[in-house]
Amino acid sequence: MNIVLMGLPGAGKGTQADKIVEKYEIPHISTGDMFRAAIQEGTELGVKAKSFMDQGALVPDEVTIGIVRERLSKSDCDNGFLLDGFPRTVPQAEALDALLSDMSRKIEHVLNIKVEKDELIARLTGRRICKVCGTSYHLQFNPPKVEGKCDKDGGELYQRADDNPETVTNRLEVNMNQTAPLLSYYDDKGVLTNIDGQKDINDVFKDLDAILQESGQ
Ligand code: AMP
Repeated sequence: MNIVLMGLPGAGKGTQADKIVEKYEIPHISTGDMFRAAIQEGTELGVKAKSFMDQGALVPDEVTIGIVRERLSKSDCDNGFLLDGFPRTVPQAEALDALLSDMSRKIEHVLNIKVEKDELIARLTGRRICKVCGTSYHLQFNPPKVEGKCDKDGGELYQRADDNPETVTNRLEVNMNQTAPLLSYYDDKGVLTNIDGQKDINDVFKDLDAILQESGQ
């Protein structure tokens, strides 16, 4: 099962990705997470990615495609994978198709989670993440039991550097401009399904799961 999960930042991709990979036992491949890990580890990739990420800009395609190529060649992807945050541009989608075609595989589902812009801004600017386990909270919509601490492990909660209001607006604009043609690209291939992301988390998952089940995967 080769899946691409799409949606603007804040649409709930990460939350839904966790649920999908748990149920279908496939790896969750998030380019944003891979870049953040590289920055934390201080690798060459991290240094390259940081300047773009800090501005809410896209990391250049050759860098991004390179890390995805390397990741998809690992054996845990043999039964499928869930891509989150990649592809974000048509050239990335074309590169992905070429890469998969070399492996005699293809993308079977592109699931696009749709949420209104004002709702996305509110979700992103209020988001807080556990430093230890990465669980997301929201100051109003999903607050932790103890302020500033993760419910699961007591880890300190932090705000992602690119979740501040100015960067958020830029990230949304960059993403909207870049992903609109991508949605058409996948729609033309007949693999795109739009999902209403403003419903309750479990209802969004039910809708996504129904699509995956429908195809008999
Ligand atoms: P995300 O966690 O998916 O919101 O990604 C955070 C940031 O990582 C983005 O704003 C980009 O700077 C960078 N990034 C993640 N995925 C990609 C991608 N597919 N292409 C280019 N840049 C990316």
